[in-house]
Amino acid sequence: MKTFDIHLHTDGYSRCSVINPEELIQRAVELHLDGIAITEHGIRWPDEKFETLKRLAEPHGLMLINGQEVQTYSFQKGMEGEFLIFGLKKSLGSHFPTQELVERVHGEGGILIAAHPYKRSRFGTERYYGAGDRVYEFDLDALELYHPDHDEEALAKVRRAMEKLSLPGTGGSDAHQVHEIGAYLTLFENEVRGEEDFIREIRARRIQGAENPKFKGESPFPLSPQGL
Ligand SMILES: [Zn+2]
Ligand SMILES: [Zn+2]
Repeated sequence: MKTFDIHLHTDGYSRCSVINPEELIQRAVELHLDGIAITEHGIRWPDEKFETLKRLAEPHGLMLINGQEVQTYSFQKGMEGEFLIFGLKKSLGSHFPTQELVERVHGEGGILIAAHPYKRSRFGTERYYGAGDRVYEFDLDALELYHPDHDEEALAKVRRAMEKLSLPGTGGSDAHQVHEIGAYLTLFENEVRGEEDFIREIRARRIQGAENPKFKGESPFPLSPQGL
């Protein structure tokens, strides 16, 4: 099993995060993770800068994946959800309707994971700060199961959707602070040597979400500013 935290924000491109990218790498190495994916809001790290980070991580056997977290909107419904996107070369911003995003990402050979679909909304009229039951409407590649804002009810809802849609569940810490890194994980059955392997293995459902037992019993999650 290879352990990855595939939902992380840094202060490099997410203003809401206080994690310095070098600290992120250091902490991931300390936790003995095999890999991490950086998923800034609507922004993919420029390749050149990302390569610099990779060079810091590689001597420690830590694989880095360059992704992004994209929020979707429609005129009728407003915010439709957030999605972790992998395999695209460009930053997508946050203005697409979900269906358009799905078509674009799949058209370019990428994958979409519904981020925290049943995270409860603290503001506005929407029930969830995530796709909620809209996960049933779109052609997604995985659902984020383990996330700091998923309570028991949310976990049950994601599990039901995973079963009905035959989709795998991932885990990600959505860390915005160093101590949050690695609390939730995505376990890969096979070796992941780069983005291609990462995407193929998720598509093939040879992954599963997990809670990091090292974090059990603690409550390292104050309400995060994410989503405000
Ligand atoms: Zn999010
Ligand atoms: Zn996030």
